[in-house]
Amino acid sequence: MKIINPATEEVIADVELRDAAAVDEAVVRARAACASWRAVSPVDRARLLRRFAEVVDQHADELAALEIANAGHTAGNARWEAGAVRDVLAYFAGAPERNFGRQIPVAGGVDVTFQEPLGVVGVIVPWNFPMLIMTWGVAPALAAGNTVIVKPAEWTPLTALRLAELALEAGIPEGVLQVVPGEGEVAGARLAEHPDVNKIVFTGSTSVGKRIMVTASATLKRVTLELGGKSANIVFADADLEAAAAAAPGAVFDNAGQDCCARSRILVQRDAHDRFMELLEPAVKAFRVGDPTADTSDMGPLISAEHHARVSSFVPDGAPVAFRGEAPAGPGYWFPPTVLAPIAVSDRAFTEEIFGPVVAVVPFRDEHDAIRLANATPYGLSGSIWTRDVGRALRVTRAVEAGNLSVNSNSSVRHWTPFGGFKQSGIGRELGPDALDAFTETKNVFIATES
Ligand code: NAD
Repeated sequence: MKIINPATEEVIADVELRDAAAVDEAVVRARAACASWRAVSPVDRARLLRRFAEVVDQHADELAALEIANAGHTAGNARWEAGAVRDVLAYFAGAPERNFGRQIPVAGGVDVTFQEPLGVVGVIVPWNFPMLIMTWGVAPALAAGNTVIVKPAEWTPLTALRLAELALEAGIPEGVLQVVPGEGEVAGARLAEHPDVNKIVFTGSTSVGKRIMVTASATLKRVTLELGGKSANIVFADADLEAAAAAAPGAVFDNAGQDCCARSRILVQRDAHDRFMELLEPAVKAFRVGDPTADTSDMGPLISAEHHARVSSFVPDGAPVAFRGEAPAGPGYWFPPTVLAPIAVSDRAFTEEIFGPVVAVVPFRDEHDAIRLANATPYGLSGSIWTRDVGRALRVTRAVEAGNLSVNSNSSVRHWTPFGGFKQSGIGRELGPDALDAFTETKNVFIATES
């Protein structure tokens, strides 16, 4: 497949898409590597993962450059992403030595639990944060003693392939981490159905996530699903409106809106609506769209012509565009940051995930109304609440059906804390102290001490 730079439309690489037979071969290798990887002592496994993090750090500029060229990330975002890959590997490098079981008091003996590796884990990755989302699966899976096969998204395989080489350079044995580029319907589907794959970590659209779950059920594979979102940015009249308006563009337009946590709905209390919109307009127009290699750019292009057409469908001729920023003419798949208002809550721009730089603004009356609107989608991934009232912040965060909320902040993901979705945004949690549970089985052993 020809790999395209979305900012220039130039071909930057030619990658062979592998078929189902290649996945089968990778599974054989991964299965063969299971016993020896599991037998690596926790101290040595931790050392190898720390070394992997160091090698990634040494190649951070190269990885960032690949991500800029392949995924259209801005230079700032790509450098942040390379640093985050290193940090996630370093964080989970601490896990093998702390993967404690328990000793439980029982009658007649001693009872202990062990956290056993699952075996072979398949990690299916989307194109929006290719190397980071891959690492969210790879790092805890390896730390827990599993072997891993990664299936990157068709459009963005380059950093995944490079990370697999860097893992070997760091001393991670052959077969422990493999990357198989291929089409979702072919290589991804085979991974999900393969009887010798024990778990699938899938990040991507809700529709494909549902199919993965059906396929995986045939062999009762464990699944972690990180799916779509339609998160709300809820601004109360008592908030610091300047701060809320200054933060709102980054909350939805970062990575050109191609972010599962994008706050693509702004809910603003009626009393503050007009003032908030006055503050939002210059902030949106100041969001600089352009050459992703330039440090001055806040936003790059969309990933592809196909995706550009999909995002455009949410802003048809005559759509209620309140204001929008500017974008280069082309070549490249550029789309200007766009604010839609007034918009009906039945409009698909308010209900469907756009995955582009388009945000819909809807006013609300009171706390009850804000919560009702925030929860009026099948998704439940992320969101923000802006208020100076601590009690309200707690009431609203408890009532909003989403896995990751922030107060007076855009923050969604921190590798120390659990990340994942409510409702149709997913199943399971990644990152944080509990992530290892998703990559191990608990085994209970009773040892009789009395005959
Ligand atoms: P997608 O579902 O089209 O593809 C994701 C991956 O699944 C790709 O590698 C693709 O090749 C593969 N795939 C496609 N069909 C498959 C099949 N039948 N069997 C197995 N694998 C298959 O998603 P996308 O367009 O790459 O990514 C965008 C979506 O990802 C958005 O909905 C976004 O919200 C979501 N996402 C979620 C999170 C999260 O953590 N919750 C993070 C990033 C992106």
